[in-house]
Amino acid sequence: MLNYFDYAATSPMSQRAVTSYVECAKAFPLNPSSIHRGGREAHEELEKARMKVSSILGIRPEQTIFTSGATEAINIVFSSLLWQKSPGRVLISRIEHDAIKAFIPLLKDKGWDVVMLKAKKGFVDPEEVKENLSPETRLVAVMAVNNVNGAIEPTNEISSVIREYEKTIKHKIVFFSDSVQALAKTTLELEKSGVDAASFSAHKISGPRGVGMLYMRSRNLIRPLSSAGGQEMGMRGGTENLAGIVSFASVLEEAYEKRKEKEERVKALSEKMKREFESIGLQLNSEGNTSPYIINVSTPFPSEVFSRMLDDKGFSVSSGSACSNNAKKGENIIEAMGYGAKRAGSSVRISLSDETEDIEVDNLITAIKEIASGK
Ligand code: PLP
Repeated sequence: MLNYFDYAATSPMSQRAVTSYVECAKAFPLNPSSIHRGGREAHEELEKARMKVSSILGIRPEQTIFTSGATEAINIVFSSLLWQKSPGRVLISRIEHDAIKAFIPLLKDKGWDVVMLKAKKGFVDPEEVKENLSPETRLVAVMAVNNVNGAIEPTNEISSVIREYEKTIKHKIVFFSDSVQALAKTTLELEKSGVDAASFSAHKISGPRGVGMLYMRSRNLIRPLSSAGGQEMGMRGGTENLAGIVSFASVLEEAYEKRKEKEERVKALSEKMKREFESIGLQLNSEGNTSPYIINVSTPFPSEVFSRMLDDKGFSVSSGSACSNNAKKGENIIEAMGYGAKRAGSSVRISLSDETEDIEVDNLITAIKEIASGK
């Protein structure tokens, strides 16, 4: 899609995703839970998709729960805390997506001790996680890649800290990693990383909206609020969106073809942009180990004004995290990263995909230079 730089908000479906969606909807129109032949065939197709996704991600099919999106996967994990007989402590990074932060008032209301972890420039410090673990801690939530500035969190280090601490207490601490912006855009080793649960979304990788996934290392770590219907191994009731799931599996396969090569190409594009932006005095809010797919930059204009000026020139960027533009204004994530209110108020997010072309990047750089120089 020409001059589109908001892939972190959503990415248009790829041709392969559309084709597999349509073909599946036509070939398997029935309910995967029905016992007649058409139902059984639909069920087989569902399990094939689960196998495909699991093998690409290096996990087991029974660890793969399809959901209606990352928000639902997050809801399953967080609402499971409400089953616990007595409230404990949860550690949540300040830069989590609203889908997670929305649970904070509810948890507090139920007596949970919610500790917010700092994330300077977007990075959670494993030492801070260590200092805040307590015998009451039940869950730690630190995302894999931040959706506003692309910071790649030290997931393995955080996991090691948690696992070490666990040896001194009697229960397990769930390490939850919202991995929406990491999927197919960075090396993701779920088993090796030691995370217990992770959320994913199809529409961030050119798949359909309304489809996502929850990875769960072990089923007994998380208890769904309701298992109504019993689908998805009792973790997510409701008739499955088979065509959406099959389309997700096919687009994940597509994204993993020459994945590293694609990432390298996008990295070259994003480094070029960063160099150009710095050369005209813009401030980069994506520093250090960040995803090449997301660049956050502050300009001399308020975020909305600058993104509107770019829109007038035909470029789509985000003035924040578009996933939460409808939500009540929460804390500005760039400010939460310690960049200061002024810089946060003038930040825009530019996000790329494997489909982004060199010429689009050149055009965007020219447009930004024109605006910055008053043209
Ligand atoms: N987590 C992150 C980091 C996101 O960027 C998004 C984007 O919207 C979500 C969760 C929610 O995903 P979904 O739209 O699949 O519910």
